[in-house]
Amino acid sequence: MSAAPLLRQVFGFDGFRPGQQEIVEAVAEGQNVLAIMPTGGGKSLCYQLPALMRDGLTVVISPLIALMRDQVRALTEAGVAAAALTSGNSEDENAEVWRALSARELKLLYMAPERLASGGTIPMLKRAGVQAIAVDEAHCVSQWGHDFRPDYLRVGELRAALGVPLGAFTATADSETREEIVARLFGGATPRTFLRGFDRPNIHLAFQPKDGPRAQILNFAQARRGQSGIVYCGTRAKTETLAAALNDTGLPAVAYHGGMEAEARRAVETRFQREDGLIVTATVAFGMGIDKPDIRWVAHADLPKSIEAYYQEIGRGGRDGAPAETLTLYGADDVRLRRGQIDEGLAPPDRKQADHARLNALLGLAESATCRRVALLGYFGETAEPCGNCDICDAPPETFDGTEAAQKVLSAVLRTGESYGAGHIIDVLIGNATDRISQRGHDRLPTFGVGRDIPKGQWQAIIRQMLGRDLVRPDPERHGGLAITAAAHAVLRGEERVTLRRDLVSKARPAVAIRT
Ligand code: ADP
Ligand code: ZN
Repeated sequence: MSAAPLLRQVFGFDGFRPGQQEIVEAVAEGQNVLAIMPTGGGKSLCYQLPALMRDGLTVVISPLIALMRDQVRALTEAGVAAAALTSGNSEDENAEVWRALSARELKLLYMAPERLASGGTIPMLKRAGVQAIAVDEAHCVSQWGHDFRPDYLRVGELRAALGVPLGAFTATADSETREEIVARLFGGATPRTFLRGFDRPNIHLAFQPKDGPRAQILNFAQARRGQSGIVYCGTRAKTETLAAALNDTGLPAVAYHGGMEAEARRAVETRFQREDGLIVTATVAFGMGIDKPDIRWVAHADLPKSIEAYYQEIGRGGRDGAPAETLTLYGADDVRLRRGQIDEGLAPPDRKQADHARLNALLGLAESATCRRVALLGYFGETAEPCGNCDICDAPPETFDGTEAAQKVLSAVLRTGESYGAGHIIDVLIGNATDRISQRGHDRLPTFGVGRDIPKGQWQAIIRQMLGRDLVRPDPERHGGLAITAAAHAVLRGEERVTLRRDLVSKARPAVAIRT
């Protein structure tokens, strides 16, 4: 099976993280690969996914039993035949792994490098139909750093004995370590090397709440007349209507979506590739195969699915390194739609919760009070300085200390038992004695009416920003009632301040519906 459907069906991800796709493709092609990615960047997927794309077994060398256990459990739950040979296994467990190996039932086998020292391991692997080796935390083979594990040196032997491609993965990027990895694991052959931080500094980042969205997109495109751009739309119908609207203003635009004949789609791709200044209004179906270096702008007429999807889509701009601009619109309809898609999906509850949290993270980015690149890279585990190339750095929004307001919300959430949506919480705060409020006795709570001084719409905006900061989170176990998060405790205790954006609150027009 090819990468994209497996990514979705087995791992439940909407898109690749930065850098993953190229690495997955190279590993799946059977190339020797050295991949350096930041911690949290998603290295495991870069060998797990190719393992499923090819016939045969992938052996994963990993230094920590706990890590192996976690991964094997997650893979098994996702229906992947994976196992680990560790010193922590019982005799029976090991016997079962050996049996599965000789029956060639496994796709992934994890083992610690120490295991290679025992005489039977390499001959056994030779008989087990191994097609690739993956080395996690590959810097452990290097004496240069401080994680040196002598048994990692045996991995080179294993590779020589099996004669299969090897992928080495690490977060350690310094050149000494890299040279040692290449020398010791690849026996002198030069692997294809991927060294990827996540930042794409030439891409300007900007978000706006929907406020006459069609005009917002048309103006953005008008101001970039003559430049190639993509407008990502949430629905097929919108790709058509927006293309027509752009054409009406004299801008060349064509629609592209999965409902079109393959031939028509190919024609759009070719035209976009060749023609300067063409705009494609598209669903997410557009882009996978597009290799156009000079896409100067990418707009989102609707909120993307997740931060990963957002990053991947804007990342199609400015591949030549020259400046590229982006604009992402978000509104109440998007959030309702995305929440609904998650809730109505067939994923198990914990996956749904993770999807909601990922959507919250994207909303947090949309309503960030500080540099968007700092927030975006932070999500991928990288630290950065304010970038000077996003709308927030261009014009920092006015902020205010929202700690007290946040504490009132958290307290109302706690006192009502973390089971109610934002609407009910706001009714408690503003002292709105609805039937539901009085039936449950919430009008007798000390928090009842403590937020009378702030209008309803502003409370919505405050809670929305709190969702974005992950201070409150919809709990799928309680029909999406808001629950407080670990981070919220510090706020309740007054140890952590909450800085909110004034523009998003004082506008008071509910741009984005919070979950109620
Ligand atoms: P690393 O080994 O690079 O530190 P992991 O492989 O443990 O990182 O991945 C870090 C986290 O990112 C995991 O929770 C994983 O589920 C998640 N992740 C990886 N790839 C993706 C993706 N394409 N989309 C969403 N989440 C992802
Ligand atoms: Zn910035």
